[in-house]
Amino acid sequence: MFEETYLTRIEERVFKDTILQKETGAKIVGVYCAFTPKELIAAAGAIPVALCSGTSQAIPAAEAHLPRNLCPLIKASYGHALNDTCPYLHMADYLLADATCDGKKKMFELLADLKPLSLLQLPQTAETPESHASWLQELYRIRALLERRTGISITDAGLLAQIRIYNTLRATICEVFALNCGEMPLLYGYEIDHITSMAGFECNLPARIGEMREAIAAVHQRSKDTLFQKKMQHRPRILLTGCPSTNKKVLKLIEENGGVIVAMENCGGLKTAGFGVDETGDPMESLAKRYLDTACACMSPNPRRIDILKKLINEYRVDGVIELTWEGCHTYNIEAFTIERAISEQFARPYLHITTDYSQNDTGQLKTRIEAFLELLA
Ligand code: SF4
Ligand code: SF4
Repeated sequence: MFEETYLTRIEERVFKDTILQKETGAKIVGVYCAFTPKELIAAAGAIPVALCSGTSQAIPAAEAHLPRNLCPLIKASYGHALNDTCPYLHMADYLLADATCDGKKKMFELLADLKPLSLLQLPQTAETPESHASWLQELYRIRALLERRTGISITDAGLLAQIRIYNTLRATICEVFALNCGEMPLLYGYEIDHITSMAGFECNLPARIGEMREAIAAVHQRSKDTLFQKKMQHRPRILLTGCPSTNKKVLKLIEENGGVIVAMENCGGLKTAGFGVDETGDPMESLAKRYLDTACACMSPNPRRIDILKKLINEYRVDGVIELTWEGCHTYNIEAFTIERAISEQFARPYLHITTDYSQNDTGQLKTRIEAFLELLA
């Protein structure tokens, strides 16, 4: 139902809409992390586009400037800038990047030579009033910067309108995931990915939300489809966590070998879509709170990630947890020890940790490990 052609159709529509808006004068702002409040960008009349790359083609070019043992997500994102092979990056007027992990921060210094870039100085903890105050101040700085760049003044009313629409987008993504909460999951993980994909290129949010709602209505029909239910029946229910699943190699291997990814905690999945911005308080305060609370492994400590995993394990009736770490990602790789302990000891679920890159070199070995893990759950 949601094969490659479905995704291609959406990608084409989103790309067309972005070009149309660019032609009418809208600025395009590239972002790289879940900490950048897109509501601020949209309230300045600009289009935020998510630029983290999931493909390997541009990595060799990036390795001319960056260490080979760096996270592939960072190399791929930088390689696209060097080669000018990402149409969205090509169209971007400027970039807003967050000071998250060391690799990204230092890559952004090089990227700033290729495109105008402002770095958001992100505190490393969400736990103290001081970090909240410093982040709020940083968001005010970005608000003023966006106003200067676009020539549009951001009003509180305009910001609140964007907060509302982004909350609707998040709620709709959650509705898609929730189709897998029941006794019988109604979607494969790759289908969730297709349905919710391109939500990071929100140039026409009402259209994107409408498309997702249509997909939700179509999927509901599967609850009466006995053939589909038979196919799903014995598939172990997997929760995917860890680094952003920008490259789909591991996702595919899990489902091609008999599992079904019922939920994804990763960035872009329920870690980010699962939490809205408060619509009742001061909009800047609310944005600062919500975004600083992002349960990324770059934050220290990062206790919210375990709370989120616990909630998802129960809500999605998870049989086992697979953690994906990109090679060279020290933050997630180290945090994996804490996550494994929580999953095995507190939540009593089997856990598998996969460390890989964007290449196909280890596909055979990963297949064997994933098959063995799924057999354990069957
Ligand atoms: S996991 Fe953290 S560093 Fe990586 S993209 Fe998400 S917010 Fe950024
Ligand atoms: S996956 Fe890890 S190393 Fe790569 S950008 Fe995200 S936090 Fe940084």
